Amino acid sequence: MSARAVSNIAAFDALAIRREFPILDQAVAGKPLVYLDNAASTQKPEAVVEAIAHYYRNDHSNVHRGAHALADRATEAFEQARMDVANFLVGGKGGVKGGVKREEVIFTRGTTEGINLVANAWGRSNLGAGDEILLTEMEHHANIVPWQMVAAATGAVIRVAPVLDSGELDLTAWTALLSERTRLVAMTQVSNTLGTVNPVAEVVKRAHAAGAVVLIDGAQAVNHFPVDVRELDADFYVFSGHKLFGPTGVGVLYGREALLDAMPPWQGGGEMIERVSFSKGTTYTGLPWKFEAGTPHIAGVIGLGAAINWLGGIDREAAARHEQALLERVDTALAAMNDITRIGVAPGRVAVASFLLAGSHPTDVGMLLDQQGIAVRTGHHCTMPLMERFGIPGTVRASFSLYNTFDEVDRFIEGLDKVRSFL
Ligand code: PLP
Repeated sequence: MSARAVSNIAAFDALAIRREFPILDQAVAGKPLVYLDNAASTQKPEAVVEAIAHYYRNDHSNVHRGAHALADRATEAFEQARMDVANFLVGGKGGVKGGVKREEVIFTRGTTEGINLVANAWGRSNLGAGDEILLTEMEHHANIVPWQMVAAATGAVIRVAPVLDSGELDLTAWTALLSERTRLVAMTQVSNTLGTVNPVAEVVKRAHAAGAVVLIDGAQAVNHFPVDVRELDADFYVFSGHKLFGPTGVGVLYGREALLDAMPPWQGGGEMIERVSFSKGTTYTGLPWKFEAGTPHIAGVIGLGAAINWLGGIDREAAARHEQALLERVDTALAAMNDITRIGVAPGRVAVASFLLAGSHPTDVGMLLDQQGIAVRTGHHCTMPLMERFGIPGTVRASFSLYNTFDEVDRFIEGLDKVRSFL
């Protein structure tokens, strides 16, 4: 390890960071809360809570259409957040030249809505009978069901690439499924259940060579490491605010301008029109607003902008190393427990530990951990096909974020030890 890396570890102060998250400072079941459900949703720093409160206290109005000071302020904050997202989508490297344009940043309700938007607006106008949509066994339901719906409507066919026992994508099998019939590839960058980081840059390259359009689900990626959609060369990229230290109910669809431009609108209503007439017909406004029908989640967008700016002040390399160190400690402890079966041990995975305890149901393990103030997620994690592939009903999942500490890892392992002695 280089001297710089060592100094970065020393510089990363998870305790100082967690002090910015008031929610983490509470007792559950009489014990300090250990929050290890970050893959479901991350907590929010004071900066985000404050930005939302400030907006509602001072600047709230509807956006884009007012002719008064509050409307101007709300619009400015809303559109500034869009530029912050554009910058974030090129890894915070700044500058619009060669980067992401505001036309390419669509605000949505979250990852799910972003995928539904692409499935409907792009899918219904580009897919036909026999065309293929290539997915993987590790997709979240949000990246399966919209494609099943559009396949049923268009006659397109879904192909599913397998996952190896380690939790890695079987890239050879995936490549074998790719053909000139593949019109769309949709893949998660990071598995919410396994923590696996997929080789999406290579996937995009191969998919493009086959003539397919690629959507990357970044819901579990953006909070763990910087992403540059231009470098990835993704056609569509989606994520949710609430998994990125921002509010619920807001997310982003990035789309290549030429593709978005050629797509018909999905939802109709205010904000997305140029002119509406019964006699002369209705015309639509340009990007990005063509895909933002209705009053948007203004406070959510502003909160998301605040989350991105907050993250901009974090040494992300050091944060990632901290998360990896937490994971190593968890992995070592779990590996020493002979009644624990780990699901997902792909090299280079993010800080997610999914496992089963012999002779017990994941729900019971989760409940007994909760009684010790330790919050984990149990169940299928909205990845039922993946559960089917492993032949299991669900897993216990502990998922870590940059504000988790080594003490919390130890509390979790001690808590799990207690559960093992009960069950
Ligand atoms: N994709 C992945 C990989 C996820 O982990 C999730 C949420 O857990 C989603 C999509 C759906 O995100 P949302 O519910 O915020 O739309």
